[in-house]
Amino acid sequence: MKEKYNEKPNSSIDEIYGINVFNLRTMRNYLSEKAYSSLVSTIQEGRTIDPGIADEVADAMKSWAVAKGATHFTHWFQPLTGTTAEKHDSFIQPDDEGGVILKFSGKELIQGEPDASSFPSGGLRATFEARGYTAWDPTSPAFIKEGKNSSVLCIPTAFYSYHGDALDKKTPLLRSTAVLSKQVARLAKLFGIQVSHKRAYATLGPEQEYFLIDKALYERRLDLIQTGRTLFGRKPAKHQQMEDHYFGAIKTRVMSFMEEVDRELWKMGIPAKTRHNEVCPAQYEIAPVFEEQNLAIDHNMITMDVLKKVAERHGFVCLLHEKPFAGVNGSGKHNNWSMCGPDGKNWLTPGDNPRENAKFITMICAIMQAIDDHGDILRASVASAGNDHRLGANEAPPAILSIFLGDQLTDIIEQIEKGESKQSKRASRIEIGVTSLPTLPRDLTDRNRTSPFAFTGNKFEFRMVGSNQSCAGANIILNTIIAEAIDDICTKLEAKVKAKIDFNEALQDILRDIVKRHKRIIFNGDNYSESWHKEAAKRGLPNLKKTPESIRTMERPDIIKLFQKHSVLSKAELESRNEIYKEQYEKTLRIEAGVMLTITETMIVPVAIDYQNRIAQMLLNTRTVVKNQKQAKGLLKQISALSEDIMACSEGLKTALRGDKHDVILAAMEKLRKNVDELEGVVPAHVWPLPTYAQMLF
Ligand code: ADP
Ligand code: MG
Repeated sequence: MKEKYNEKPNSSIDEIYGINVFNLRTMRNYLSEKAYSSLVSTIQEGRTIDPGIADEVADAMKSWAVAKGATHFTHWFQPLTGTTAEKHDSFIQPDDEGGVILKFSGKELIQGEPDASSFPSGGLRATFEARGYTAWDPTSPAFIKEGKNSSVLCIPTAFYSYHGDALDKKTPLLRSTAVLSKQVARLAKLFGIQVSHKRAYATLGPEQEYFLIDKALYERRLDLIQTGRTLFGRKPAKHQQMEDHYFGAIKTRVMSFMEEVDRELWKMGIPAKTRHNEVCPAQYEIAPVFEEQNLAIDHNMITMDVLKKVAERHGFVCLLHEKPFAGVNGSGKHNNWSMCGPDGKNWLTPGDNPRENAKFITMICAIMQAIDDHGDILRASVASAGNDHRLGANEAPPAILSIFLGDQLTDIIEQIEKGESKQSKRASRIEIGVTSLPTLPRDLTDRNRTSPFAFTGNKFEFRMVGSNQSCAGANIILNTIIAEAIDDICTKLEAKVKAKIDFNEALQDILRDIVKRHKRIIFNGDNYSESWHKEAAKRGLPNLKKTPESIRTMERPDIIKLFQKHSVLSKAELESRNEIYKEQYEKTLRIEAGVMLTITETMIVPVAIDYQNRIAQMLLNTRTVVKNQKQAKGLLKQISALSEDIMACSEGLKTALRGDKHDVILAAMEKLRKNVDELEGVVPAHVWPLPTYAQMLF
């Protein structure tokens, strides 16, 4: 008889690929029962670790890591540079017998003190107290980064100053999740949902887009090397217009890259799920299964790192810039946001009973209010020099924030405003909601690819985040402004309930009022169209096209108050961030302009001169034989005129750089680029000094 089919194999990635994350399963094997259960409740309740078990946990982590080949550990953190940072320390300590042993203490696990004086602090840290501290975030498990000869144990941490000011993206993120959690619990209580010890938390599934190009070509592009994007380059005749790349068969070389990426991520406990070709040739996407927000953000930071490293091993370079190539699609990060309530359910899923529906509609209304009141700071949270090229270009969402709800949900929202509970035109309805709240359709999966903030069935997809950015910034704002809206709703509800007004009626009134005030934020049409831009202006929705004007919205007194009220960022913390982001914008712009000038003067102009010379020589040499040299002379004149223009544009850019007007610098860069790209179209391909778009993309 054949043996019974055994279902167990293949279920655990650990057994197949090995495991590089100190997750609950690993912990159970390495910790005493007491320490294990203490740590688990610390993680689940988001508390700080019991100092009594710190040494044991540290020792267990070390034993596990050393068995995996680790020699060093690092407090891994996310400074305001937008990337991740690590400083390695070995486990080595001298013993009493003239040798060395491997040791790792609870103290070293819980707190670190990297020499942090060179990280941007926006004036938060005077140099005499330049110390920065890192503190372990046990809700994000430690993981191992494999090196060529040894590995490093990475401990996710928050990074703050001597006075406790946040110097990173994780600290305010954790504060904002706590605020959101608190307000959702308050709302749950009003709905009569038993709040056990469980907390509400936001969930996140970030879809990550990226480009892969050949390393040999990359190395010949100073602009890509130094700025992450091409500052010159003509759009080839064929680019993405056939849409034959999107979801197409994945090329073998790319496939083997993707396989290795997935394997590396799975080993670190990152649930990479989907991989596919994107719209533009050479553009791809990777998306994980959603997780608790803080963890998902850490995992996305690791994913970006892994994409870059694995690409190199396959002779590629992974470009994470928001707009590496002009004229074709840029790369974004779709920030899929939802809320898991203290009842353990997704609060953005329409329910199957009245209470669930009321909860769902209340969340939708809270989000409408949040985005309408604070869309400008949400826009500011994704403002960067790189993302400016994407937002507002004709493919990514525009810089105007609006919400896509789809026809069915919009219909329901309109019914709430009118105070009716009529049956909607559409079929397939779930039972009637809280007394007079309308019924909800089962399937709300309309698709709209042009909206910056779209409801997609059981979550909102915020599409403005740049591919290069940490999701932390956007989610700090989302959590805070949604918490603020829920706070407002709860305050009103509590007052009405106290005044003995029927709960359902009270809720209905509050929601109707929200819809009346905020329905202008809903737009289900084509967000790229000219008519929407006009309509949005009429509705009074902000259209902040550039980074500096976006950041200014974060300086408003009401915004400072909002962050203070919820203790997400103090005034000083907020101001320091604004300073840093403004400075980063300024530096990026000037570096890009500088690289453009270098390329123009040392690569483009010399080629143009050589080629003119060759044509001139040819004209001289063939003059006696060829009577009519009209075409060649025309070409010479054209190139000569272009070269003159290019040199004049260079001078123009230099003049612009002496001033401080961003728009003037950007305009000068664009003018220079236009002329250089035109020249690329008329000189021989084999003498052009830069790899072309066609070479890089195909
Ligand atoms: P698409 O938006 O391309 O149609 P999906 O709808 O399958 O793709 O999901 C995209 C991303 O949204 C995935 O990363 C997925 O894990 C995430 N996602 C799904 N449900 C939730 C949720 N409740 N909270 C947060 N993210 C979610
Ligand atoms: Mg999506």
